[in-house]
Amino acid sequence: MKSGFIAVVGRANVGKSTLMEKILREKISIISNKAQTTRDKIQIIYNDSESQIIFIDTPGIQNPKNKLQERLFQFSEESIKEADIITFVIDNSLEIGKLDSQIIEMLEKINLPKILLINKIDLLKDEEIEQIKNNYENLAIFDKIIGISALNDSNVDFYIETIKEMLDEGPAYYDTDMITDKSERFIVSEIIREKALNNLSEEVPHGIAVRIDDFKKRENKNLIDINATIIVERNSHKEIVIGKAGSMVKKIGTEARKEIETFLSSKVNLKLWVKVEKDWRKKEKLVDRFGYK
Ligand code: GDP
Ligand code: MG
Repeated sequence: MKSGFIAVVGRANVGKSTLMEKILREKISIISNKAQTTRDKIQIIYNDSESQIIFIDTPGIQNPKNKLQERLFQFSEESIKEADIITFVIDNSLEIGKLDSQIIEMLEKINLPKILLINKIDLLKDEEIEQIKNNYENLAIFDKIIGISALNDSNVDFYIETIKEMLDEGPAYYDTDMITDKSERFIVSEIIREKALNNLSEEVPHGIAVRIDDFKKRENKNLIDINATIIVERNSHKEIVIGKAGSMVKKIGTEARKEIETFLSSKVNLKLWVKVEKDWRKKEKLVDRFGYK
């Protein structure tokens, strides 16, 4: 069989997590339950009869401004070293930006096969896709350049097929039925975080973490009770997340519950709380506790 590790890199907001979620939720995939699995260095394992592909999602590469970002940056570098193939994800920007250039500089020094994914092609005209392709072909460091839309699931299958062609023969590194309660909790917290981010104004999102406090299946019933806390940095943020008469947290909860029910194939009773932990991003201990270790 074909098997191997793929490091997925790219600056924030190009759509790496969206792509990973597509592969995780819609393909036959599981999530690693290894101890170091964290929100921002997450292994997604794609399985089929002829291959096992382990994707290592990394946080957006940015200049570290605080403890949290420092950690995230370290994860990126580690993931790259562990990989067999690097996937560099960019978005619909027509020109190569400064941050992308910095990442490219780093990639040039690494002697591994590289795939460039131009994501968000749903926002581009054909000639614009060509223009971006040309920009990057001229750099001559990518073995393959593929346009995709992670959001609309277009060409994601082709990306996986391309990886299979490029990988060597290898063993299955992971047991295929290792989906665990821990990874389910993790995905549930990510779904809640995603719904919160989608609904909130820009000043809040980076200060948000989600903790699952309780995750219990009711006996003899297809119903799971989940209690979770949205953690914010400031009182003013707490007010925003709760919203007028609780309207915002209710909206987040409703959207999250629907998706969690699909994911877990079960009815879900979701209760959300909002709590302030001042400056949690700056404090190492809390950063650990919220799962970035
Ligand atoms: P990451 O920071 O690289 O992990 O990026 P995310 O996966 O969080 O995506 C950032 C934003 O881009 C989100 O609002 C996504 O919904 C959006 N996005 C991701 N993929 C696509 C795509 O293919 N098309 C469009 N139009 N938006 C996308
Ligand atoms: Mg992400």
